[in-house]
Amino acid sequence: MFDSHCHLDIMVGDRQASSGDPVALAAQAAQASVERIVEQARGVGVTRLVTIGYDLASSRWNADVARIHRDVYAGVAIHPNEAHAATPEVLAEIEELAGEPQVRAVGETGLDYYRDWASKDDQHASFRAHIEIAKRTGKALVIHDRDAHDDVLRVLADQGAPDAVVFHSFSGDAEMAAKCAEAGYFMSFSGPVTYKNAGYLREAAETAPKELILVETDAPYLPPVPHRGKPNAPYLIPLIVRCLAEVKGMDPDELASAIRANGEAVFGAW
Ligand SMILES: [Zn+2]
Repeated sequence: MFDSHCHLDIMVGDRQASSGDPVALAAQAAQASVERIVEQARGVGVTRLVTIGYDLASSRWNADVARIHRDVYAGVAIHPNEAHAATPEVLAEIEELAGEPQVRAVGETGLDYYRDWASKDDQHASFRAHIEIAKRTGKALVIHDRDAHDDVLRVLADQGAPDAVVFHSFSGDAEMAAKCAEAGYFMSFSGPVTYKNAGYLREAAETAPKELILVETDAPYLPPVPHRGKPNAPYLIPLIVRCLAEVKGMDPDELASAIRANGEAVFGAW
C-alpha cells in the first residue's frame, strides 16, 4: 500500500509550532526521524509515501527528502490558506521544484472557504496558477477543497484540468463523488471516513468507482478510529483501507491492489 498524502516535515517537527496545536503535539510525540516513519510504515506493508508541501519552505524540504528516499515522492505548492504568498517569484520556484523527477504532484492547492486566512481572490488566482503549473510539468494536481466543492469543480472545468486530479482528504457526499467520477477525478479518502458521524463520507466511498479511489493519512492530522486524539502516521493506512473495503463490500486485498494501480497511474511508477 501507499500513503498518497502526508506531511513528513510537520510530523518530525521541522516547523515552528506553538503549544497546544496538533502540529506541536505531533512534534513532541513523534520525536521521529523520517527514517523511523518510513520504517514503521514499511512494517505494515505501506511502502510508499507522498509528502506534500504547503508553502515554499515546506515544498523545498519535501522535495529534498524525496530526493534522498527512494520510497518517498513529494508534492509542492502554496496552500490556499497561504495564497497571498503565491507571488510570481514564489510560483516560479514552485514550478522549478515541480519539474524535478522525484516531485510527482503539484499540491496542495485549491480553495478553502472554511478559513479566511487568504482572500477568495488570492485563492482563486493561486489555484489557477497551480493548475497551469501541473499541466506544464505533467504532474498530478492535489487539491485541498474545504467547503468549496462547487467552486473547485467550476475552476477546474473553466481552466481545463490536468490529466491527473486528486481531491485530497475527500470531504464531499455521494453527489459530489458522482460529479468527480464523471469528470475522472481521483478521490483520496482519509481518517474521517472511519468516524462514526461521517456517514456521508462512507456513502461517497460507496459511490466512488474503485478505479478512482486513493487512500491517505494527511498525517499528522486526521487520525483514523481508534487513534483519534493521537498523532497520525502512514502506518495507519490499513485501517482506512479496511473501512473502505467494508463499505464497498470488497475483499481488502482486492481493493488494495486497485488502489496501488491507481497510485501508479496518478504519481507514476515507483
Ligand atoms: Zn494535507
